[in-house]
Amino acid sequence: MELRHAAIAVTAAAALLCAGCGRRRTAADWFLLPRDTGVRMYAYASEFVRIAPRDAGTPGAARASRWIAQELKRMGLKPEADCWTENTAHGRKTFCNVYIDFPGTSGQTVLLAGHYDTKSGIPGFAGANDGGSSVGLLLGIAEHFAERRPEFRDTIRIAFLDGEEAVGSYADTDGLHGSRRMAAQFAATRRKGARPPLVAALVFDMVGDERLSLEIPRNVTPWLANAAMKTASETRGCPPVSLASNAIIDDHVPFLMPPNEFAAIDFIDFEYGSAPGRHDYWHTAEDSIDKISPRSLLRTATFALALLNRIEEGTEVPSGIRPPPERE
Ligand SMILES: [Zn+2]
Repeated sequence: MELRHAAIAVTAAAALLCAGCGRRRTAADWFLLPRDTGVRMYAYASEFVRIAPRDAGTPGAARASRWIAQELKRMGLKPEADCWTENTAHGRKTFCNVYIDFPGTSGQTVLLAGHYDTKSGIPGFAGANDGGSSVGLLLGIAEHFAERRPEFRDTIRIAFLDGEEAVGSYADTDGLHGSRRMAAQFAATRRKGARPPLVAALVFDMVGDERLSLEIPRNVTPWLANAAMKTASETRGCPPVSLASNAIIDDHVPFLMPPNEFAAIDFIDFEYGSAPGRHDYWHTAEDSIDKISPRSLLRTATFALALLNRIEEGTEVPSGIRPPPERE
């Protein structure tokens, strides 16, 4: 009897606390990942990087995009494959973005994205960390959402982008093809006076290194960098996340740039080598699956979902993007 009263009192107190904290009823704990997620992500990445090379516009890339779509279907999801042909600095090429939308109710989208293509012209290049790790990460998150079916406020899009790598040096017609395409598609749905269709684009690249340390380049949206730094310091199981001293060209850039001007951020581990401070595995045949680890993928995913949850709760989202969270 005593115990029961105590339990009721605790429940009532919890209800009072919750009424005051403004948390959403559906927040639940969807952002907590099962412990085996890292192993699953690693298995996806391992299988995926056997499809190599996956240079944009080649049969390898076509096989890679089909494989990603097939894995998403196996989870019971209905992926979209957006394929198009364009003139590039290195000839006419066909690209394919593969993505899946988990619908929300707000009419706005938060994007989690990474690239799957490989850099061309590197003999023996599998792109395990550079291309493979983001595929493993995003497939693992998609699988988790497929199993949990969270009730999201925003539509959550998980996108596997093609053509991130430049053949020569980055230019309007070389590199970032998939992100440029998707950013323009979101921009085309923008309505004057309405809230932007995209709340934020979160890009993940090279996120599986055994010695994982994620960096945020300088050329990102400040409120997202702020939210990311807070998330990393307040969430258990996150990798180290720090602000880099330099800008980086990656798939977040087309989302940021005019005329799109969406909020966007990139997370990248740009210290990928044989010893601390070295970067000698990047864009070499050394970028192989033995250099990445399930634990690192799990830590990146833990961080990604904690940040996504923070954006869903809306504390740091500027009111121009959407109104502040309701106070109950
Ligand atoms: Zn690369």
